[in-house]
Amino acid sequence: MESIKNVYKIGNGPSSSHTMGPKNAVQKFKETYSDADQYIITLCGSLALTGKGHLTDWIIKQTLKGSNTKIIFDKKTNCSYHPNTMILEAYKNEKKISEWEVYSIGGGDIEIKGKRANKVNSDVYDIEKMTDIQDYCNKNNIELIDYIYSKEDETLKPYLQDVWNAMQNAIHEGLEAEGIIPGKLGLHRKAKRIYNSQKSMVNEEIRRNKLLTSYAYAVSEQNASGGIIVTAPTCGSCGILPAVLYYAKIEYHVSDEKIINALAIAGLIGNLVKKNASVSGAECGCQAEVGTACSMAAAAYAYIMDYSLAQIEEAAEIGMEHHLGLTCDPILGYVQIPCIERNAVSAIRAIDAANLAFLIDDGAHMISFDTVVDTMYQTGKDLGEHYRETSKGGLAKKYVRNKFYNPNLSEEN
Ligand code: SF4
Repeated sequence: MESIKNVYKIGNGPSSSHTMGPKNAVQKFKETYSDADQYIITLCGSLALTGKGHLTDWIIKQTLKGSNTKIIFDKKTNCSYHPNTMILEAYKNEKKISEWEVYSIGGGDIEIKGKRANKVNSDVYDIEKMTDIQDYCNKNNIELIDYIYSKEDETLKPYLQDVWNAMQNAIHEGLEAEGIIPGKLGLHRKAKRIYNSQKSMVNEEIRRNKLLTSYAYAVSEQNASGGIIVTAPTCGSCGILPAVLYYAKIEYHVSDEKIINALAIAGLIGNLVKKNASVSGAECGCQAEVGTACSMAAAAYAYIMDYSLAQIEEAAEIGMEHHLGLTCDPILGYVQIPCIERNAVSAIRAIDAANLAFLIDDGAHMISFDTVVDTMYQTGKDLGEHYRETSKGGLAKKYVRNKFYNPNLSEEN
């Protein structure tokens, strides 16, 4: 299993699989065939169906700027290997000089057909199941965080500090920003209004939920606007972990050092899902994105609260279990509805999951995190294609603008 650094990628939203992955692919292709005089990029499956809303064509054009580029949205070809498939062709003097079949597998990662994955630090962890990691820690009498640092090198902590800085920047910028999020939905930003409204709350529970919601909205609205965010584990789910960590920092004065450790714990959870299942909405629905993010945030919060290893594992398990079956159905293909609000709901749920793990028992529970990850993967494979980032089903199909939606509400408050 690779370094947890690969879980967190700092970059522009709105989608790790539809913007970061394709950018990565065409950048590599261009570097390899820099003498080509034309590039033809064919987007298939989910990339073709929701690529416009996810800015896939925009990022490809930006990356290949100055080159003769043609982009084809192929909505008919059946992508049997991976739902996010791209065909990259390079031409010189009208003759094809190369073709790559590339899969954007989620979290900004890509695989190129026929080429060995050239991943940095791909063999960092020899244990690839949470249960086995727990066993190892218990037998050797070490903490989970010490296990992670014993496997990673000295670059991890500075990298996680950069990640934390980028997450906080996204929150700060998102809480300041106003106006309409780019795209045809005409959706107004809400983070600032929600944040301001919590100040007058006397009910502690409502205030907590509003704070968490405002942080999650801030990051998710930055993501939907193409701002800089961190995949955790994806762009669509990027608001959950920062919201929980920032809440802990502000409310409980948790040190940066402890938050860096919490990011490491969350990263291990995300890494296990990437290894044993998928974090791609196009492959397994939103349970793979938001469900994984909720698990990561629940484990991080449990660590911050000094819960036991068994309770950290249980928190991650609860975080995922209650997202099982969650479909991906973004309206008009934008990472806005249901995505932004869903990040807020899951941030609240992550803290509840961690506290539930603490309250129910001492971590002795019937369903393990590994089992729920396997279940999520199988459930994802069973989900119809229309519920896996194609915008052909669910809310995307049933969408009717609510006549009570007041687009001026943000301005008035
Ligand atoms: S519905 Fe979930 S998986 Fe789909 S784009 Fe939105 S956040 Fe990502």
